Amino acid sequence: MTVRATSRGAQRTSLEGTRAEVLICGASFAGLAVARELAATGASVLVIDRYEIGERQTSACACPTLWLDALGLGESIKQELPYMSFTTPSSSVRYRLPWSWSSFDYRKLCKLLWAQCGDARFETAKVESLGEQDADGTIAVVTDRGTISAPLVVDALGWRRVLSSPHYQPPEAPLSRGLEVHPDHDGSGDALDIWIERGIVRRGYGWRVPAGDEARIGVGSYDPVQHVKEPTVALSERLDRDAVRYQGNWFPHRLRDGTEDCVFFVGDSAGHCFPLSGEGIRTAFYFGIACGRELRSVLDGRADRAKALAAYEQFNRGHKRPFAIALALQRLIPALPPRVLSGLLAVIGNQRIVNRAFGWYLNQASPSFAAPSSLDAGAPMIGARELAEVSR
Ligand SMILES: Cc1cc2nc3c(=O)[nH]c(=O)nc-3n(C[C@H](O)[C@H](O)[C@H](O)COP(=O)(O)OP(=O)(O)OC[C@H]3O[C@@H](n4cnc5c(N)ncnc54)[C@H](O)[C@@H]3O)c2cc1C
Repeated sequence: MTVRATSRGAQRTSLEGTRAEVLICGASFAGLAVARELAATGASVLVIDRYEIGERQTSACACPTLWLDALGLGESIKQELPYMSFTTPSSSVRYRLPWSWSSFDYRKLCKLLWAQCGDARFETAKVESLGEQDADGTIAVVTDRGTISAPLVVDALGWRRVLSSPHYQPPEAPLSRGLEVHPDHDGSGDALDIWIERGIVRRGYGWRVPAGDEARIGVGSYDPVQHVKEPTVALSERLDRDAVRYQGNWFPHRLRDGTEDCVFFVGDSAGHCFPLSGEGIRTAFYFGIACGRELRSVLDGRADRAKALAAYEQFNRGHKRPFAIALALQRLIPALPPRVLSGLLAVIGNQRIVNRAFGWYLNQASPSFAAPSSLDAGAPMIGARELAEVSR
């Protein structure tokens, strides 16, 4: 059984009555991206999570290398993967991407992000619910260590969206589920491998992410009712790997409101995970930065909370289209006859189409957004030439 590093006993003093200017609930990709954006403000920022920072990896931890570099997280990279392969029952194709994926070490990445969060404070606490809001706008958050309050509150707590009511409850909610194993690996391979086969999972896909000394092999199902343990074991057996060191979670596949009851929602709690690919790390960074910038405008006195909430919601809704396209594809692709799917994958394999398709995909949450200069410019796109240069 995995033992989690959560403070216990005497270490868990009461936090009752603690106040901060910004309370960020959740210290994974989304929460840390928000905190990082507030580093230079001098505001009192409190980050809480039920586990220590970097303790609980729930994903295969593959992210576009450009994003890791843009955030100064390159040191956490375990293996760079410039290719993707797609296997169907009747064929296999391999694409050279116009940018690369990198698998990374979750604990190291979180520590690197935290090191960029300035004077933010961290406490382990389990968030239970949203409490009352004072007349002056201070919001109370109920935790297992007491009630904490702040005028600016962020829910970066993942798919359950704890500070909303009612919560999502699987299997009825629009959630996908994923499970993976982490057998030993010899560092070989240069591709993120995907299997789209109904024999593995009816509506979903299997993956293998090489990550240096381990491989992350798993299966995701868009249908939350379908169990993924058996398919995960079957895929690892097929790849001649032991099904060891399990980890899994739910992940959302529908964009949700970015604000509710004066709380900001970021990452999986706002459905910021692309429905087709299940990719949610880059988007957690992206929307985390956007949220952090709005919070900064309040701390700097350039806006009040209502204005910041409205601006963030507008930014969130501005991304409805790509999420809707990805959701439509998530429904369409599993319904395609395997031969049609293989034909499509072969056509996309033309390098110009690969560049266009994957360039479009990257630009839906472009790494250039991480640059401070993008503050007033929206989300600048990475151009085809720039991508081609990076991929060389
Ligand atoms: C098996 C699997 C593989 C995946 N692989 C990839 C991948 O390779 N690349 C990719 O981009 N995406 C991947 N995803 C999706 C990705 O993991 C999520 O989209 C991403 O983690 C979202 O980040 P987040 O910070 O919003 O939420 P999370 O990473 O889920 O973080 C939420 C944080 O909140 C804390 N928390 C939750 N509830 C409470 C509570 N009540 N009180 C206190 N703290 C709480 C948790 O401990 C956690 O630290 C994968 C998902 C799964 C399930």
